[in-house]
Amino acid sequence: MTVSTNSGSGQTQDPAHKGYVYIVGAGPGDPELLTIKADRALREADVILYDDLVSPDLVEQYGAEKIYTGKRKDSHHFEQEEINQEIVRHALKGKKVVRLKGGDPFIFGRGGEEIDTLRQYGIDYEIVPGITAAHGASAYTEIPLTMRKVSSSVAFCTGHPVSKIQVPDTDTIVYYMVASSVHDVLDAVAAKGRSPETRVAVIQNATRYNQQTFTGTLDEFRRRDKAVYSPALLIIGANISQFIENNWYSRKKKVLMTGGDSRRYRNTDYIIVNFPCRQVAGADLDAVKACIEGIDDFSMLFFQNKSAVKYFFQYLFEHGRDVRHLAHMSICTSGRAAAAELLTYGIIPDCCLESSSSAGLGLSGMLDKEGLAHQHILLPCSGNVDESVAAELREAGNRVTPLGVYVHGTQQQEDAIDLDFIDEIYFSSPGCVRNFRSLYSSIPERIKITPADERTADELRAQFGAGT
Ligand code: SAH
Repeated sequence: MTVSTNSGSGQTQDPAHKGYVYIVGAGPGDPELLTIKADRALREADVILYDDLVSPDLVEQYGAEKIYTGKRKDSHHFEQEEINQEIVRHALKGKKVVRLKGGDPFIFGRGGEEIDTLRQYGIDYEIVPGITAAHGASAYTEIPLTMRKVSSSVAFCTGHPVSKIQVPDTDTIVYYMVASSVHDVLDAVAAKGRSPETRVAVIQNATRYNQQTFTGTLDEFRRRDKAVYSPALLIIGANISQFIENNWYSRKKKVLMTGGDSRRYRNTDYIIVNFPCRQVAGADLDAVKACIEGIDDFSMLFFQNKSAVKYFFQYLFEHGRDVRHLAHMSICTSGRAAAAELLTYGIIPDCCLESSSSAGLGLSGMLDKEGLAHQHILLPCSGNVDESVAAELREAGNRVTPLGVYVHGTQQQEDAIDLDFIDEIYFSSPGCVRNFRSLYSSIPERIKITPADERTADELRAQFGAGT
């Protein structure tokens, strides 16, 4: 038998009351480059503190409290010491904290400073490595960092501050943080005696939908005064092939999904880009309370999408109820994403109205076909209610109570998707068209538009004109 004792040193207080911290690397941008372990830590987390380089869309998928510690204009600017204290503050409340950083925490990530602080406070932690920007850029541009006969060594260096620029004697050099110092770095490399013909590549937004690469020789780059936009890496070495601007990643079609089920596009030809549309908690809480308390009056629950399911159940549980209180109702969804979300609560919907499988029928036609009429339907939905669904349900002879359980809001302009990189846009509902319209006044002609159904197509014509 093992008996464990508390040494009483002060550094080893009962860890159960001291919380736990995961220092996690989120990878360079493509959300699929997150490790399975990072995903688990994020699922378990009570609090997530995340940086500039971490996509808000990634963080949004997890239920934890989210604290942004980056430098966006509209938010408080955190100094490193303040971040350290914020991690400690939450951990000391007994919380599971994920400190989520771009790339890998130990490559120019200041992860070392954060664990120093955790050690001082005797807080338990672990570190989950991430794919660093150099590895992401290398894979997504087809630049091998080492290559037999061409490059047998590689170094990761920083271009910032300028006084710290080093030029090691490795075959390949990757410079991080070069957006404002690219010429200083190139000058330093030339001063070290590298040939003017040395190959150079700049990779902006590596692994993201808007990845861009520029290549040339050291000499050409030193004469070029093209701006480099952050985040960007500079790679130097003979292993840079001339084909990288037409690499596997740039050849994929980029599909902007404004909502809906992205699985329909998951194949090797496409990259899915999620439209940054937030679900803001914006329910009318009195109406929510009244509906949940009067749930016995309804005979049917109808969910149009995943968010409606998610927020409805959140409120149901907050009011001390669970799925047993829905046993008297039939539950219906339009679309597979809502049905899949329902399954996570242990519910198989009585019917799932697939617009694609009942072409031309319209919602009321489908309801008729399923024999769903004369119901009192509770319709949890977005606060900016799409009245047409309620109207169609009423047309089919039902009494309908729409209940706003969330509000769709679009993100700040500065984070808007750059349509120059997009090949196709999938509009999943009329509400998504309106959200999109609040950020973009037109859609470039070369972009293919795919509406989910007729109602969405009508809204597209209303918002963007006949051509759509
Ligand atoms: N810990 C991070 C690096 C943080 S320092 C990592 O391991 O990747 C910030 C620098 O990382 C940026 O200035 C840029 O040089 C680089 N970087 C991070 N993400 C990038 C991306 N998607 N594309 C290009 N460079 C990136």
